[in-house]
Amino acid sequence: MQRLLREVNETVVEVNRTLGPADGIDVLCECGDACGTFLTLAPDDYARVRSAEGQFCVLPGHEHADAHVVERHERWLLVAAGDPQPVP
Ligand SMILES: [Zn+2]
Repeated sequence: MQRLLREVNETVVEVNRTLGPADGIDVLCECGDACGTFLTLAPDDYARVRSAEGQFCVLPGHEHADAHVVERHERWLLVAAGDPQPVP
């Protein structure tokens, strides 16, 4: 489900681009519950999120109980699905 959302968001970002440069990118919450809620990421943050394998951006409060919160921001959270990777 979260991978599907990522694909949807790739399309959303393409649409955003065609509308011109923006200081924020609206993407769907990737909590996997099909909440359909948009959150706004800075372009740099979105580039970071999409390049991070197994990590997703969700609204605060939408993180799953077993999700590992990697970063906590005012308007969104970066979460890793499943078991967190051991830090070397
Ligand atoms: Zn959500």
